[in-house]
Amino acid sequence: MKEKIRVTVWNEFLHEKKNTEIAEIYPEGIHGAIAEYLNQKPDIEARTATLEEPQHGLTDETLNNTDVLIWWGHMAHDKVSDAVVEKVYQKIMCDGIGLIVLHSAHYSKIFRRLMGTSCSLRWREDGKKERLWVVSPGHPITKGLGDYFEIEQTEMYGEFFDIPRPDELVFISWFKGGEVFRSGCCFYRGRGKIFYFRPGHETYPIYHDKTVLQVIENAVRWAAPVNRPKTLTIPKAVHVEPLEDLT
Ligand code: ZN
Repeated sequence: MKEKIRVTVWNEFLHEKKNTEIAEIYPEGIHGAIAEYLNQKPDIEARTATLEEPQHGLTDETLNNTDVLIWWGHMAHDKVSDAVVEKVYQKIMCDGIGLIVLHSAHYSKIFRRLMGTSCSLRWREDGKKERLWVVSPGHPITKGLGDYFEIEQTEMYGEFFDIPRPDELVFISWFKGGEVFRSGCCFYRGRGKIFYFRPGHETYPIYHDKTVLQVIENAVRWAAPVNRPKTLTIPKAVHVEPLEDLT
């Protein structure tokens, strides 16, 4: 039998504890909603981890058994320990685990570390419509989608989004207020694959939306490592003999 893709859904899990309206949208937390959806897929096995657990739930045991890490954070990026960020960074770069960065996690330490830029953007919480255009129709992350999809009520994110030029751009958003945004961005870093996906403001039921969940599922399959090494190995410059006879 084919091995399952092992996903860890990480959430800072603070809004849901502090705000009853958000808790009503996500009674099991944002991480719980995403993991529950992924666990319905026969080839995916999802677990969760949250900020207030020891090591933020990201122990060596968990990371060694994670193929794809999903990250949602907003109000407590600075509470994530640098040691955990470093460990996750090494896992992505050297070990090839995939990372899916959601919404306000554009400002997470791990995403900024990987991008090397400020990752700043424009925003406005106005509850208006977003239309996400598919700009790479053959890309695996767009499987099952049409030309575009819409989210009726959302927070606006606008350009300029201070990221390096994405290796693949999958979605561009249009907002009712006139802004546009690169909403689905793929990056290759070391052995790892990274996907930034914009939708997900906590006061709207965005992670109950079928299309949004489909994109996350597609991204899990895309970001899963190919030929993951058995142990963490930092790539080194090596002297090699030629494959052909040079004489
Ligand atoms: Zn937000």
